[in-house]
Order: sequence, then C-alpha cells, then structure tokens
Amino acid sequence: MEPLPSSLSQLDTLNDYDPGSMPVEQARQLIRHFLHPLSEREAIALHAALHRTLANDVASPMNVPPHDNSAMDGYALRFADLADGAAKLKVIGSSYAGHPYAGHVAAGECVRIMTGALIPDGCDSVVMQEHVKVDGDIIEIGSGHSPISHSLAQNVRKAGEDIRQGATVLARGQLIRPVEMGLLASLGFSEITVYRKLKVALFSTGDELQQPGAPLSPGQIYDSNRYTLMGMLRELDVDVLDMGNIRDDRDILKQSLLDAASQADAIITSGGVSVGEADYIKQLLAEIGEVVFWKIAMKPGRPLAYGRIGACHFFGLPGNPVAVMVTFQQFVRDALRALMGQAIKPALTFKAICGSPIRKAPGRTEFQRGIVTRDDNGELVVCSVGNQGSGILSSMSKANCFIVLPVQQGNVEIGGSVEVQLF
Ligand code: AMP
Ligand code: MG
Repeated sequence: MEPLPSSLSQLDTLNDYDPGSMPVEQARQLIRHFLHPLSEREAIALHAALHRTLANDVASPMNVPPHDNSAMDGYALRFADLADGAAKLKVIGSSYAGHPYAGHVAAGECVRIMTGALIPDGCDSVVMQEHVKVDGDIIEIGSGHSPISHSLAQNVRKAGEDIRQGATVLARGQLIRPVEMGLLASLGFSEITVYRKLKVALFSTGDELQQPGAPLSPGQIYDSNRYTLMGMLRELDVDVLDMGNIRDDRDILKQSLLDAASQADAIITSGGVSVGEADYIKQLLAEIGEVVFWKIAMKPGRPLAYGRIGACHFFGLPGNPVAVMVTFQQFVRDALRALMGQAIKPALTFKAICGSPIRKAPGRTEFQRGIVTRDDNGELVVCSVGNQGSGILSSMSKANCFIVLPVQQGNVEIGGSVEVQLF
C-alpha cells in the first residue's frame, strides 16, 4: 500500500483508492489512519471500572502470592526430615489462612497447615493430611501402607509465582473485563487511571421512518437501525447521544450534524449514503467538514461514508438494516475502540464445513449470516440462515456467525470449507 494521505480530501484523487471498489481491509486501514485515541484520562474507583480502558501500564507493586503458602491441607515440615521417605514428627502448632504460625520449626518438628496458610519459618514442604497417620501430637509419614514419594517444596505455592513485583501486569489500552477487575484488586489497587468515556451521537435519516409505538402511515417503516446501533454502542460502553430520526431536509440535516459535532467524539448516521441520496449529504458535509464516500467491495454494506467535522469523526452507514449492523461491526466498532485507546486485534475467524450450499459471485467480500454447530464427529458445520437480503434483519437474529467469503470466492458446495466469524 502507498503512504497514507494526510487529509481525507486526498483520498478521492488517489487511483489506488478506487472509490468504486474499495476492498474491506483497505477501508479499515484508511479509517484507522485518521483515528487518534482520546488523550483525556481520569482516575476512577476500581468497582466502577468495568468496560473502561486502561490509560497506563500497570506494574505490580508486590509479589502475588505475597508469601510462600500451602496448596493443601496437611503438615508443613522440613524436607530433610523425610530423607528416606518416612518420618515421625512432633506437631508444635498450627498455621491457618490469616493466622500464621509465629515460631520457628526445628528438625523433627512440623506444623498443622491449611490451604492458603503461610509456610512457617524453617519449613519448605507440605505433606497432605491424607498421607499422614496422627497419634496425639505425633504424626507418622510413609509407614505401613504403600510408600509415597515426596519432593522438596511439594504443595508449596511460592511467593511471586503468579506475578513478580515490578512486572507489567496490564498494558495501556487494555479493556477492563471482570478478570482485570479481579487482577487489579489482587494487587491492592482501589483506583485506576482510564481514558474518559467516548461520546457518540446517533441519528437515523429518512422521511419514511416512524418511531416504534406510533401507528404507521402508508409508506412508512419503523426506525429499527437506531435500536440496533444503540444496542451495539451500549455494548461498547460509550455515552450515546440519541438524536432521533432526522428528515431528509438539507437544513435540518446540516444543523443536526453541527449540533452533534459540537458535543460528540463521533457521529453515526444510517441511511442517505446510497447513490440516489449521497450527493446531497456529500455536498453538505463538504461545506462543514470533509468526507469520502466509498463503495466498499462487500455485501451487504456497499456504501459507506467516513469523514470529519472539526475533531468529530463521522460514519455514514447504509440504510438497510443488515448492512448497518455489518458495517458497524466490520468498521465502526474497532474504530471507536481505537478512539477509546484500546489495543485492536483482528477479529478471530475459523474454518467450518459448509452444511448447505452457498451462492456467491466473485467480486466482493460477503458476510453471509450462518448458524455454526458441531456435528456428531465433532466437526464445525455452518449452514446459511436462508434469505441473505440486506434488509432481512431476522437473518441476523437467527444467525450466530458471519460466513466470511473472500472477494474471489464463488459458489461453495456442501462439504466445502469456509471461514466463520462468531458474533
Ligand atoms: P437509504 O440508504 O436511506 O436509501 O436506505 C436504504 C434502505 O434502508 C431503504 O429501504 C430504507 O427505507 C431503509 N432504512 C433506512 N433507514 C432505516 C432505519 N433507520 N430503519 C430501518 N430501515 C431503514
Ligand atoms: Mg434514506
């Protein structure tokens, strides 16, 4: 790929970026090129950190576990006392989790110990209680029944074996999931530094749109895109500025875009980017910012607009309900994550066997909706959900994956191999 341009307006003039057939990966890279993560950070309480993004590397202030401790209920002792695999030892005390044994353990002595309790001074190994015969304050190991082999440091969790003090535990850009909340808590952090929340403005366009709850007049349809988009945005934990649906009126549209850009980090719209309508929004955006319209070589989701109004990013998604979801998932989601400072990894795909024939013409990447299951032999088998029209939203609801068919791919017969991307 050639060096990337510094301004969006250069994109329309570069032959490489044929706006008639932009490959999916190229569009992804171009958008990524214009995204710069938020710089504002804030310190927040750990309990409020779920789904936020770490703004600093986190180094461990301590060893985890902090001290050598027992992995078993049993007896802590000196391995040297077990040299021939057997011993009779005096129990001189106990070490329970939270209540360590304070004294020193000498040769011939041992301490009753429970899981998680500190290994007493002088001890180096733990023998499970099941391998011990108790007689008052004397225990006997390795007598009578079949001898068990013991080893130095057995059943001891060493200090720092999970995390060493000073080691980088989490990197900047890490999404905080439940496991990271626990990990940070285990290191004693009650507060962490995260990037501020992203604010995303959202509206639908189209004179035909009606709000759910109101009756439909002839020619009207319900505005479903704003709900799928709202759902996908909530899953990303951004602040959503819901601006409703906007009529196809130049002045109202312009004012809405300016309003949105003054408040949000990104604007997402649906509808109005197809060939018939694009010119009109294109002119409008050119007046107040910069924008490129691409015909992405993909199905569904061919038209896509990306631009900026001041510092605000603009994503103009197609109107068809499935195309909205596919373009959001394939372009916008990672773009927003990048803005939030998250480290972006390519979506994981894996191979499955076709359980139903797939119709596909070469020329575009297709994201067909499929249901992937395991057959009786344990193989992954994927079947098409049927009607693949870009307006058939129920196909997304039935599906659990995209069948990702590369540009050059043609029809696939039953038994053929395809890549699937789980939802
Ligand atoms: P457009 O790109 O605006 O021409 O829209 C393409 C198709 O998607 C048309 O059939 C629209 O009626 C439909 N559509 C546009 N916006 C929405 C929406 N918010 N919810 C449901 N369908 C929509
Ligand atoms: Mg429209």
